[in-house]
Amino acid sequence: MSEAAVNHFKADLRAIQFTLYEHLKVQQVFGLDAFAHISREECDAIIEQCHRFVNEVTGPINGTADRVGCTIESGQVVTPKGFKDAWKKLFELGLMGFPMPVDDGGLGGPHAIAVVLEELQSGANCAFNMYPGLTHGAADVISSFALPEDRERFLPPMVAGRFAGTMCLSEPHAGSDVGASKTRAKHLEGNVYSIKGTKCWISAGDHDLADNIIHLVLARIEGAPAGTGGISLFIVPKVWVNDDGSLGEPNDVQTASIEHKLGIRASATAVLAFGENDGCRGILVGGKPHMGMKQMFRMMNGARIAVGVQGLSVASSAYLNALSYARERLQGSSVRHFKDPNSPRVPIIEHSDVRRMLLEMKAKVEGMRTLCIKLALHADLAHGLHKVDESKALYHQGQVDLLTPIVKAYCSDQSFRVAELAIQTYGGAGYVQDNPVEQYCRDAKIFSIYEGTNHIQALDLVARKLQQHGGENFTAFLNEISEFVTAHSEKPGMGAEVRALGEASTALQRGAASLMEYFMSGKIDQVTLVANPFLEVMADVTIAHLLLGAAIVADEQRARDEDEPNQAEIDFYSGKVMAAKHFVNFILPTVHAKVGSIVSGDRSALDIPDGGFSTAF
Ligand SMILES: Cc1cc2nc3c(=O)[nH]c(=O)nc-3n(C[C@H](O)[C@H](O)[C@H](O)COP(=O)(O)OP(=O)(O)OC[C@H]3O[C@@H](n4cnc5c(N)ncnc54)[C@H](O)[C@@H]3O)c2cc1C
Repeated sequence: MSEAAVNHFKADLRAIQFTLYEHLKVQQVFGLDAFAHISREECDAIIEQCHRFVNEVTGPINGTADRVGCTIESGQVVTPKGFKDAWKKLFELGLMGFPMPVDDGGLGGPHAIAVVLEELQSGANCAFNMYPGLTHGAADVISSFALPEDRERFLPPMVAGRFAGTMCLSEPHAGSDVGASKTRAKHLEGNVYSIKGTKCWISAGDHDLADNIIHLVLARIEGAPAGTGGISLFIVPKVWVNDDGSLGEPNDVQTASIEHKLGIRASATAVLAFGENDGCRGILVGGKPHMGMKQMFRMMNGARIAVGVQGLSVASSAYLNALSYARERLQGSSVRHFKDPNSPRVPIIEHSDVRRMLLEMKAKVEGMRTLCIKLALHADLAHGLHKVDESKALYHQGQVDLLTPIVKAYCSDQSFRVAELAIQTYGGAGYVQDNPVEQYCRDAKIFSIYEGTNHIQALDLVARKLQQHGGENFTAFLNEISEFVTAHSEKPGMGAEVRALGEASTALQRGAASLMEYFMSGKIDQVTLVANPFLEVMADVTIAHLLLGAAIVADEQRARDEDEPNQAEIDFYSGKVMAAKHFVNFILPTVHAKVGSIVSGDRSALDIPDGGFSTAF
């Protein structure tokens, strides 16, 4: 029996507006020449359109698509019912092109707003949003690095949704170790090469949504050096595209299989065989050999931020669904009347532990949203201030670089944890398919694995980002917190929490100093051992800072509202203050324990003999 389509997606537009305009003051970008062509009103209208689109089109098919997944028929992937229609409508609305440059057919909108559009789209249907997400990433690489004639040939149909895109790095023996790639490229003529090799786990690797799929494939040109330095990037269309833009012959790209997965089941994850019949051609991106990793890094950095936003989006809808359920589900009586056998049953939201879970979810979701939008705002300011105020532009770009691994790792880890907490809030009803949170939990698990596992993110943070520009980016990050603590440490009702942030930041610096000592004394395995806890500490400090910043703004707004009482708004602002206080008092203290383990120099995980893990084989 086919299941009725139900839209379980929930979004908190009031909270989004607060973060955008009251807290982070994203409206500042509209004063920059780079964004002068677009207004806040237009951006708000696009957010509204997107909200309507996801509630009417992609949200209702999230659960049904999860149940059926993708199938292969006659060597071609077939997506679930409703996906083709959703793809068509998404491109009619121009949502994918929102942040793309106007010259490439996009709207040139701010990334800070694009984060919100992504939150709505991924939250409503994460699997569906993989297809336009990958297309956007591939189009961005082509826009940034391809030769003008290739941009002209591939970009317009990608922005219009006639062609889709992918990123093809992984191979069966080359996952995190991308440099071990065995896919080969042999020169044919000009920038055209013959491509041969197998790529696995390729998201959106095959489907029936567009006329063509443009694969961006990493491969090694014959005779190129080993490792990542010898890898090049190729545009490999599924169907060859003639110089005049018309479709030519199929390009010998076969879909060998698709995966059966824990989550995002309606996103096809394909094994692709390139050149099995020696008939696959690829175009060297920008005509530049051995630049593949640098070029692909642009897509990977964008994708890492996008994965962080995926994490936020799924966590947010999981939290809001759990909240609705907790307001309705009657169970037990209030603990305040535990001596009265006749006291009425209450909604579970009245129980302390349920309130604790809800507030933890709220704090983490709102912290993630603020972090994602703040990073995007840094990117917009870096872009908008380029050639206007170079030193400020450099500062903003430095914060984008520093915070990217935190956005990816923190939001992806916490997404799974928030979804798990949402299931716990429901009780048994959360474990079954009648409610959406079991799917959210399954969908969220991949976020900490793809786009570089979260350990790869932690290595990026400790081995590259902390030292980047002589450590200036990290120093600027710490200075911002220290100025905040100085300004607000005596704030009535919140001073203790602000001072706790100052202490956590000092602990973070102690952890960073230990990392430096391990580096200097050649204990590299000790650095990698504590890289993940270090990232977690830095993330918790970052989130506490952002939540307290929001709480201070909210507290001022609340005081203003008390002159003209609007209870819903007063409650909204109180919620911001409580979320920050809860995070600082219940979650931030773990920072001190983690720093304790970082500085302890404990080597048990390194010194245990392999046989000591277990004697069972
Ligand atoms: C649903 C899905 C979609 C995907 N989509 C794409 C896609 O579109 N394009 C694409 O190219 N790939 C894609 N991938 C592949 C994905 O990026 C890889 O799974 C990921 O990079 C990890 O590689 P791996 O699975 O081979 O794990 P491995 O690299 O084998 O890692 C296994 C474990 O070892 C750890 N590890 C590995 N190397 C090191 C090291 N040097 N130091 C310390 N620890 C290490 C890892 O952190 C991990 O915990 C997708 C995967 C899935 C499951």
